[in-house]
Amino acid sequence: MAEKIEGGSWKKKLQTKWGPHSHCIICGRATAEEKQTCSQECMDKYQGETKKKGKQSKIQMIMLVAMVAVMMIFMFLGGGLGG
Ligand SMILES: [Zn+2]
Repeated sequence: MAEKIEGGSWKKKLQTKWGPHSHCIICGRATAEEKQTCSQECMDKYQGETKKKGKQSKIQMIMLVAMVAVMMIFMFLGGGLGG
């Protein structure tokens, strides 16, 4: 009977062995709970991707500002012609 209980508790043993952990957001390997990536290599990849995203949003901002500037120029020109 005791063997049966032991047989069912291997999952619990495994959980205590690993403890709370998270998985690398790049390759999916198990890593420490507070870490997002398992290694420096994956960290570099992750940071590279976030940098790319930052660049994209910057370009979008510049496009928006450019569009507003163009609209203002058109409004200015239109007002000049109307007067
Ligand atoms: Zn990784």
